[in-house]
Amino acid sequence: MAEPPESLLKGIAVSPGIVHGPAFVIDDEASLSVVRREIGATDVAVELKRFDAALADVEKALQRLRDDVQEKVGSREAEIFEAQIAMLRDPMFYDDVVATVRDDLRNIEAAVAETIQRFSRMLSEIEDPLLRERAADVRDVGRRVFDRLVEESASELVAIPQGVILVAPELAPSTTVRLDLKGVRAVVTERGGKTSHAAILMRSLGIPAVVGVRDATRVIRTGDSVILDGISGSVFVGPSAAVKAEYARLEADLEKSTDALHAFIDRPATTADGEHIHILANIGKTADITAALRYGAEGVGLFRTEFSFLIRDHYPTADEHLEIYTNLAEQIRPREVVVRVLDIGSDKTPCYFDLTPEPNPSLGLRGTRLLLNRPEVLEAQLRAILQASGNHRISVLFPGIAGVEEIRGARAVLERTKEQLAAEGVPFDPAIRVGAMIELPSAALRMGPILREVDFVSLGTNDLTQYILAADRGSPEMGRYYRAIHPAVLQTIWTAIQAAREAGKEVTVCGAMAGSPERVALLIGFGARKLSIAPADILEVKRMLSGFTVAEAESLAREVLAMDTVAEIEQRLDAFNREARARVRGEKREARA
Ligand code: PEP
Ligand code: MG
Repeated sequence: MAEPPESLLKGIAVSPGIVHGPAFVIDDEASLSVVRREIGATDVAVELKRFDAALADVEKALQRLRDDVQEKVGSREAEIFEAQIAMLRDPMFYDDVVATVRDDLRNIEAAVAETIQRFSRMLSEIEDPLLRERAADVRDVGRRVFDRLVEESASELVAIPQGVILVAPELAPSTTVRLDLKGVRAVVTERGGKTSHAAILMRSLGIPAVVGVRDATRVIRTGDSVILDGISGSVFVGPSAAVKAEYARLEADLEKSTDALHAFIDRPATTADGEHIHILANIGKTADITAALRYGAEGVGLFRTEFSFLIRDHYPTADEHLEIYTNLAEQIRPREVVVRVLDIGSDKTPCYFDLTPEPNPSLGLRGTRLLLNRPEVLEAQLRAILQASGNHRISVLFPGIAGVEEIRGARAVLERTKEQLAAEGVPFDPAIRVGAMIELPSAALRMGPILREVDFVSLGTNDLTQYILAADRGSPEMGRYYRAIHPAVLQTIWTAIQAAREAGKEVTVCGAMAGSPERVALLIGFGARKLSIAPADILEVKRMLSGFTVAEAESLAREVLAMDTVAEIEQRLDAFNREARARVRGEKREARA
């Protein structure tokens, strides 16, 4: 059973990137605390003189910062400090401090701290986001005066160790610049918005950041292991093994673009004779979109939604679902996203999903069968997918379909959900495209009735292989039996692609085989023209495609379908791929000559 992470905090992603590291928490409020003294009426003049001197010093320091930032970052960012210099002389700030000293007979440090707190409270209650962000400026300006007064600089207050994810209530621009950010790999703040100055600076410094994370300094402790997803705005504190594995995969995806493969980023995916092959991405979370787009995916062919269930300790709420799908669709727009409804079974079960453990999990209740036993879970997810389809290109895909009854059952829930939305006047796409995963032998062998119920099918070669060969896909022991190029598996894949093409229905191959440069020629030879693959595999697959023609792939497929053993097939594929690679290299040499 997957363990939920200790906490998942959500905020606004303001500077992209993924970072896994230890947290370092600074508590801004604590450092504002100061000894509060009552002063005598005769001391007022002395305290105000100290105030004026501090203001003059801070003004000079801000001017220096302005010039420094202008040189290092740019004049737009430097304007922040110009505005702060103006704010120093703002009579509202000045008069409030003076009145506190004079009327409440407070020492100057305490008066400035109180004014900062009053101003930021007052401003953060204002609805207008721009004005609210100015609260940060008031706090920052006051903070600098305060620091000057207590004769401590921000950098002396906080020594930041190397390699940490900095967690703070707020990062005021002057503090941001004065911190030694070389050691900071990412930033989480409780306050701030997309246009806050800290956000602008983080973006220009290339430090991934998520702001507006409520309670971050309370929930996160220094030393906690944190994954910051600066693309979707998620912060995982004490991430579970499943979350860590997902993000490790994403990091690997993003590292994939070596120089040799770079040339293929902007090239369309075509065979040597110019046949266009549609390359889509398999993704598991919003952040994967970055890699998918970077490598030129034409859309998302498979969005596995399990992850968004596994990372929570509760069923995703309607709003959470909707946010995930619209966010994703927004980023990939105008391309299409195929959302696969939840595909879990007894081996992959969120903690709140009350399921009886199965003695043989992969043959237990899973995929669409499980959802038909839990129609309320399916309905909630379909409702959000439909809502998101109102103004985005979204299709829905049902996993683990064994036969026509299951796809009919799933469609019935879909129709019922549509009726409810229509009755509520909620917009959605009434013609949303519906697909079935063909990943069980029963579905592949008898596709006709299923094809009549759907707009498209998606071939899941991972499960198809495990179920045809009775070899657990996750078992290292069974690795030598789990062979996607087994003659029986290839025969089934070929039959399924033919059946879909004859019925005039779109077919995508979305299992790992589609992303394997070694196997892709076979799939093209079988008639596949749409492949949905891990972003990390896109460039290698594009490169391989350019090394053979469709006719060569078809002839390879005919040869291979007549073979009896995995060894023979492997040998033939090796020879074919060697030639294809040589052609790609030759082509590059020709291009250079
Ligand atoms: C498959 O089974 O091939 C597939 C794409 O689905 P998953 O790997 O998520 O089971
Ligand atoms: Mg599958």
